This record gives sequence, structure tokens and C-alpha cells, in this order.
Amino acid sequence: MSNTNIPYKIYLEESEMPKEWYNVRADMKKKPAPLLNPATLSPVTAEDLEPVFCKELVAQELNETDRYIAIPEEIQDFYKMYRPSPLVRAYCLEKKLGTPAKIYYKFEGNNTSGSHKLNSAIAQAYYAKKQGLKGVTTETGAGQWGTALSMACSYFDLDCQVYMVKVSYEQKPFRREVMRTYGAAVTPSPSETTEVGRKILAEFPGTGGSLGCAISEAVEAATTQDGYRYVLGSVLSQVLLHQSVIGMETKTAMDKYGIKPDIIIGCAGGGSNLGGLISPFMGEKLRGEADYRFIAVEPASCPSLTRGVYAYDFCDTGKVCPLQKMYTLGSGFMPSPNHAGGLRYHGMSAVLSELYDQGLMEAVAVEQTSVFEAAQMFARVEGILPAPESSHAIKAAVDEAIKCRETGEEKTILFGLTGTGYFDMYAYGAYNDGKMTDYIPTDEEIKRSTDMLPKV
Ligand SMILES: *Cc1c(COP(=O)(O)O)cnc(C)c1O
Repeated sequence: MSNTNIPYKIYLEESEMPKEWYNVRADMKKKPAPLLNPATLSPVTAEDLEPVFCKELVAQELNETDRYIAIPEEIQDFYKMYRPSPLVRAYCLEKKLGTPAKIYYKFEGNNTSGSHKLNSAIAQAYYAKKQGLKGVTTETGAGQWGTALSMACSYFDLDCQVYMVKVSYEQKPFRREVMRTYGAAVTPSPSETTEVGRKILAEFPGTGGSLGCAISEAVEAATTQDGYRYVLGSVLSQVLLHQSVIGMETKTAMDKYGIKPDIIIGCAGGGSNLGGLISPFMGEKLRGEADYRFIAVEPASCPSLTRGVYAYDFCDTGKVCPLQKMYTLGSGFMPSPNHAGGLRYHGMSAVLSELYDQGLMEAVAVEQTSVFEAAQMFARVEGILPAPESSHAIKAAVDEAIKCRETGEEKTILFGLTGTGYFDMYAYGAYNDGKMTDYIPTDEEIKRSTDMLPKV
């Protein structure tokens, strides 16, 4: 097809919507290292995981061979409510930057949860319902995952118990109320409701909590109540699988109009949106059919890929989850409290960690004031108020577009705009008041935390 009639926003016809998720592990010659049972340190089996996670999701987690996995009809129907998400040409941003680069973004913020997390939440709720469970438990940091899961659970009439990192519970009352509106029970973590919560509170009285700690509480809540399982919104390979719907749509849209991205950029917290966006493109690279540059963008205050170590680590502070080999800052790493931009998880998806280790993907770390500067520029020229997390990708895309301005190269840059920032206005306020600062952990700080990694 000719390139002259490319719409400003590319949507897909219903018949073009993905019917399958793409499992990038099937095309990896060297697979991610297996998860380990924390008690025995041997590779986990389905039987190890099934008391904690839904059966079908365990099967997906352990599936390294099926390239495509069918998206059940019920999930496709739910996707139709807010998908396809638009692939947008950022003409106004290009003009503002004076760059010859063509910039596209895939916008995942057009649903009430405000982020891509709903793509996996609905899948996880579906499999929980199919298994006949009463409900699910989870943790949430900034609140996007908890919101997405509460929406998904109310759709399938499942109980939803959310452990919300205490600082966010207090600072983001509106997120909490959205979750409660969808019927979720929200508990600030650490709490007195679990053994691990009580232990953490005794050790660190007055702590504002952390994701790792909330995960431990949610896992305990799932395993101590009949008919409940734990679900997780990022990091796990099953979540990357569900998020591949982002990349599948993007690839179909780009192929339809003959667009080939040179650079694909995404922010990286636990790695799910980035993994989902790049998956089908990475598949082509792995099979030797095409080449792309992939860039993971992380905060300089929580730099797991760029400054962490590639080793087995715990996924949670309470050390109850399986061990995963990943780029990590250590499960005891606490990002600076002045870090407002999300993406605070100490580790990274095993799939992305392995791809990065093989040199198939690059990573950059950016400071939060520069992220908010990019966010503000983007909001002013493109109209969308971006989530701080997403703005890490904007910052890196802008930097690449500026390089093109300097070299005169007409590269095509694609980035994932994962969500909107309406619930992050305190952070925007700090930036607008000139009060936002950057914090970069010292090598000693990181070493202190990575020295505590489990010896496997
Ligand atoms: C959760 C979240 C992220 C980061 O999570 P990943 O698993 O790394 O994708 C990025 N953007 C938004 C808007 C989010 O809610």
C-alpha cells in the first residue's frame, strides 16, 4: 500500500483485531532462566505454583513453546469495549522538535483504569472465574493495576482484595475510591491483617510500605483463604503474553500502511507494556526476518537494567514468591521517597532481562525532572496528559528525535504511551512549582542491596 494516505490516527477494523497473543519465548533460542521454588531452590513445577496462581495462568507462565495462544472469546469481547487503541502520528511533537523523524505512539490510556494494565487484568480475572474461584488478591503501587483489576473483577463478578502501598493509599485517595466504586476492598500495606504485614510493621514502624511488601501480604491473603488466588500486574511472563495484544495491534496497523519502525521505545517498570509492545517485532528480529532497535527506559532513581545485576532474586520483600533470574537492584532496594514517577519495582521481567542480556535490547535511565519536562511539552503539543511512567518513553523518544534533527536522518520512532496522568497531579504540582528534585542512588547504596541477593 502507498504511504501517502496514512491516517493521523490508525485504528483497526474488528476483523483485524488480534485473535491470539504472541509468546515471544517460543522464538528465543536461549530461554529465560526457570523460576525457582524458594524453599527447595529447584525449578518450579505447576504443582508448586497452583496453590498461589490460577491454573490456566500457571500453564501460560510455564509455556515456552507455543508461539501463539488463542485469546478466549469472552476476553476478545471485553477488549472490544476499549480496543483497538489508536496508533497516533505525533505530527505536532515532530513540528515542535523540528525533527525529520516520524514519531508514532500507541496510546493505551483510553479506558477508565487509564493504562494498559486492563489488558492483562481482564485475562487474569477471566481465568480465575473459569476456575470457579471466589476472588483474587493483589498489590498495587500507584494504583493503576488495582484499578484495572477491580474493573475486570466486577465484570466477571469476582471478589477483589487489593493491598495498596501505604504512601499511595494516603496520597492517592481518588485511585482508592475508583477501586472501591468497582467493588474492591482496599487495604493499606503493610497492614495488621497478615502475618508478614505485622512482621514488617514491627521491624519498620511507620513505614510507607513498598511494592515488594504489598506483594507478600497479597500472596499470604490468597493462600490463607479458600477459593482465592493471587494475581500480579507485571513482571511475570504471562502478563507480557497478555500485553502482546498492544504489539500485535501495532504491527497489524503499521504493516497495513507499510510503516516500518526503526526504533521502538517503552518505559520499563516490571516490563509488561514494553514486552507487550515489542514482542511481535522482537519475534521478527529473533527469527532473522527484520531488525529493529529496542530501548527500555527506566528511572535513574530505580535503574534495574542499567545498574542492577543479572541474578536470581526474590520478587517480593517477604521472600514468599518464586525466585526469578532478572536484572535486579535487590529485593530490599527502596527507591528514594522523592521519586514520583512510578516504575519503582526493584527487578524486571525475566523475558526482557534475558533479551537485554543477549544484547537484543538497549536500556537508558532518565532523571525525573527531565521526564516531567518531556511530559509537559507532550501535553502542550499533543493534548494528552501523560502518566509519569509513560513520560519516560516520551523523554527517550524526544531524545532520539533530536538526534535525528542533528544528523538529518528520517527515522521512524515508535513509542508506547501507556496511560494518562490525572491521578499524578501532586507530582505535576511539584514539577510546576520547581520543587521536583532528582535522586540517583550511589554505587554503595546499590551494592549494599545487591550484596544481600540470595546465594543460588
Ligand atoms: C504500571 C504502569 C507502567 C509500568 O509497568 P510495566 O509493567 O513496566 O509496563 C507504565 N505505565 C503505566 C501508565 C502504568 O500504569
